[in-house]
Amino acid sequence: MVVGDVTTAVDVLILGAGPGGYAAAIRAAQLGRHVTIVEPGPIGGMCLNRGCIPLKALLSASERYQQMRSDDLTTMGLHAEAVSFDWATMQTWKQSVVERLSNGVRRLLAGNHVEVVTGIGWFINAQEVRVEGEYGTHRFKFEDCIVATGAETVPHNDKNVSTPEQILQLPQLPQRLGIVGNDYIALELATLFARLGVNVKLYSPTEHIIAGVEPAALRLVQAGLRKLGIEPMTLKHTTLASDDMPGVTTKKVVPNTNGLHLGGISMKLTENCGIAVNTMQQSSVPHIYAVGDCTGGQALASIAIKQGKVAAEVLAGQRVQFAPLVTPLVVHTTPELAAVGLTVEEATQAGYSVTIGRFPLAANGRASTLGADNGVAMVVAEKDNGAIVGVTLVGPHAGTLIGQATLGIEMGATLTDFTEILYAHPGLGETILESSEDALGKAIHLLTKH
Ligand SMILES: Cc1cc2nc3c(=O)[nH]c(=O)nc-3n(C[C@H](O)[C@H](O)[C@H](O)COP(=O)(O)OP(=O)(O)OC[C@H]3O[C@@H](n4cnc5c(N)ncnc54)[C@H](O)[C@@H]3O)c2cc1C
Repeated sequence: MVVGDVTTAVDVLILGAGPGGYAAAIRAAQLGRHVTIVEPGPIGGMCLNRGCIPLKALLSASERYQQMRSDDLTTMGLHAEAVSFDWATMQTWKQSVVERLSNGVRRLLAGNHVEVVTGIGWFINAQEVRVEGEYGTHRFKFEDCIVATGAETVPHNDKNVSTPEQILQLPQLPQRLGIVGNDYIALELATLFARLGVNVKLYSPTEHIIAGVEPAALRLVQAGLRKLGIEPMTLKHTTLASDDMPGVTTKKVVPNTNGLHLGGISMKLTENCGIAVNTMQQSSVPHIYAVGDCTGGQALASIAIKQGKVAAEVLAGQRVQFAPLVTPLVVHTTPELAAVGLTVEEATQAGYSVTIGRFPLAANGRASTLGADNGVAMVVAEKDNGAIVGVTLVGPHAGTLIGQATLGIEMGATLTDFTEILYAHPGLGETILESSEDALGKAIHLLTKH
């Protein structure tokens, strides 16, 4: 790349190489566009380097540790007397996972002939971006631009209170930790640290530890937290680190739009300072698109990736939109929780007349063979035509199984559709089958009244 205040004409310029930006880059390149992506930090953004992947890696390690110490192993005839863990090695392993995946994305970008420029970019006008990087500043004149600069958790004004990203990198485990939040990140952090013996206090700013989840499912998750020694409390005042307990808060995620000089190009923003977009991810400046957390919507990598692909396809001339009916929620607690669509209460409030099916994991053969039969599958369907409107799963691999339910809802599947296909046996998927059969009053492994 040429150094100095020279202008380089590029085809598609992408700001940010998180999941939204790199997915957009690869898809645009697949569709024949020439892509330049600008990123000041490591490839993969928040998700890969500081969020989803590090947290899930540590959760997996801590889950194995917890399982190896569990009484269930003895019941199965397994003995693992001297089980211990080493936080520093766990961190090293987590980092190796992050680096392997980040290098993989870098190779994919290179293989798709995407030019990666290290630096931070902002708009000079609606056609040009200035990038300041390790070799000074440079101007890029673009045909189309995709902004994918993400969002940041705002640091707390108390230095004893960390963001989730910071807490995942602690060199040493604290003895006690206060966590404030009522979302999946708060529940996963609480689970991770409590599994490793940290005395965790979980404070929810609202009555519920997470919103929009079936009460019966929530009770199972809450019982799991209690088993780890966590008694969730409602936070009345923000006095998190008052007694010298280190804290972490998952609240307040703000879009990274501040330094982009968007005012200079009259770009419309949302109330929370995200870039306002239409369903084709176009901003108010039509050849500038925005995807992922910088749009100020729900901060999820799954959404950023899909929006990135939609933006790339739109600017390659395809008629597509970002218009998912439902967004799956997955929480890696013990037991695992996954939900998609409406709860009974939400469906009723939305005016649906619903029928409900439930199936306990204790009655599922595969769950018993896994020694993990604490959980439930629940389906909510429209009474008159059986159309599925919501599914909640609690138990092993719930986060994977929810894919079938998501596909079902997106395709307008009915209870009959869910009961007519063949399910591998013994399989956890059969809990979706039997909860659907239960809604129809004909589950085989439940006693139903005639
Ligand atoms: C602890 C934690 C756990 C999470 N777990 C999950 C999960 O399990 N599932 C899930 O779906 N989501 C999860 N998320 C959320 C997920 O990480 C984000 O929603 C996702 O990373 C958003 O992707 P993005 O591409 O929009 O932005 P980001 O991943 O934030 O990437 C934006 C990139 O833009 C770069 N950038 C910023 N400004 C500029 C600029 N001016 N010029 C050029 N580049 C710039 C940044 O350096 C960054 O690399 C988690 C988040 C956290 C914090």
